[in-house]
Amino acid sequence: MTSVFRDEHWIGGAFVPPDSGDRIEVENPYTEEVFGHVPAGTAEDVNLAVSAAHQALAGWAALTPAERGTALDRLHRALLARADEIARIVGLELGTPLKIAKVVQAGLPLTVLAGYAELAAHPPADEVIGNSLVVREPVGVVGAITPWNYPLHQVVAKVGAALAAGNTVVLKPSELTPLTAYLLADAVAEAGLPPGVFNLVAGTGPVVGSAIAGHPDVDMVSFTGSTATGRAISHAAADRIAKVSLELGGKSANLILDDADLVKAVKVGVGNAFLNSGQTCTAWTRMLVHRSHYDDAVELAAKTAAGYPLGDPFDPATRLGPLASAGQRARVRGFIERASARLVAGGLDAPVPSTGHFVAPTVFADVDPDSEIAQEEIFGPVLSIIPFGDDDEAVAIANNSKYGLAGAVWGSSERALAVARRLRTGAVDVNGGSFNPFAPFGGYKQSGIGRELGAYGLAEFSQVKAIQR
Ligand code: NAD
Repeated sequence: MTSVFRDEHWIGGAFVPPDSGDRIEVENPYTEEVFGHVPAGTAEDVNLAVSAAHQALAGWAALTPAERGTALDRLHRALLARADEIARIVGLELGTPLKIAKVVQAGLPLTVLAGYAELAAHPPADEVIGNSLVVREPVGVVGAITPWNYPLHQVVAKVGAALAAGNTVVLKPSELTPLTAYLLADAVAEAGLPPGVFNLVAGTGPVVGSAIAGHPDVDMVSFTGSTATGRAISHAAADRIAKVSLELGGKSANLILDDADLVKAVKVGVGNAFLNSGQTCTAWTRMLVHRSHYDDAVELAAKTAAGYPLGDPFDPATRLGPLASAGQRARVRGFIERASARLVAGGLDAPVPSTGHFVAPTVFADVDPDSEIAQEEIFGPVLSIIPFGDDDEAVAIANNSKYGLAGAVWGSSERALAVARRLRTGAVDVNGGSFNPFAPFGGYKQSGIGRELGAYGLAEFSQVKAIQR
């Protein structure tokens, strides 16, 4: 069995021993065996990391765009050399099937980082407004706190942008999947980034996360995770009026209009809902279907879901791996147990592999739009299908959510675009438009505040200053 033991934090340009000897064990969610550990960091470790980031700030911020671009390009190359290892470690600590992990867990963040190396070298020009010169400056020391579902992408979306904009960073990755982030620290070491520009402190949310969120010398907290934790982080940062950006949960709707390509819309829709075993914040977990082809859609969705092979993430035939933890599995099963809609695929009694935190891909039809499974983020392979009569009703059901992160519309192009404009959500894919890693990413309502990725992500990690002449 592969073992991965990390006994230090990355602080001030070196792997340093932790303040305490306590450790966090890392479990393989397929074998259910512990295969690694990281230090359980303390507030003292955070103090050290924030101090290193503070010391590094002036020097890093003063580099020319070309110099910062070159440094990030070196980082990208060092990370690229680890692409296979990234996919393997994500497969081990999260259970994403290797084939999928190579593309979304390794390939995507590498693309994002390459984009930030380019943006660092060629940042948006200063703006002239009348007699003012408007310039962008770094915010300062950024605390980055990330979840487990895309262990490198969520990290790079913050770290790449923050560093490109001239900030320095203290990262706390999820305690469930901390090992992938260590590969970024290895790449930082190899790339020779100046000491203190990037720091990694492993640990739990309540200890290390809250120490970062509440630290007086952290100028901005960038968080991705649950809405409940985002709220706690906002409260901590509010005491010192620190900038906060939040990427939170979602309950996105997939609207299939009466003139949609039904087969494509349903198949892609089911695939989207179950990507990463449904542990995707943008997952289209509500499928809204026009009554004229509702029955066909339900039948096709059920058949598609039932055909997904579950199994060992390292078996090329596997499409869905286990959920990330026993706790997550129990949570998802609770939603299924309490649901009162018509079960058409999966469910609690459907067969799953004998080891691993599996939940069978589950589809409910005739779901009440106000019910728990239509309103709460489940974060597992559970799809709710809801009928509608016309576009207005579809939009009303889609917008009947406390979240507003993503969504989709299928139908003739002008009409689908018109419906897309009416959705209260940060992103909408029309007729299968693919994910764009350089377009702004973020949520309306309780899905978050701020935007990541591309030039909008760079702006999020910048201050603007008006100089009058
Ligand atoms: P989580 O909120 O439990 O944890 C996220 C991070 O916050 C972890 O690193 C955790 O250790 C830390 N944390 C926990 N309590 C904290 C506290 N009191 N103070 C500071 N930090 C604390 O979320 P999760 O279970 O890891 O991830 C799943 C959630 O993330 C889902 O709700 C999902 O929708 C959301 N998510 C959102 C996006 C997005 O971009 N909008 C992307 C991925 C995941």
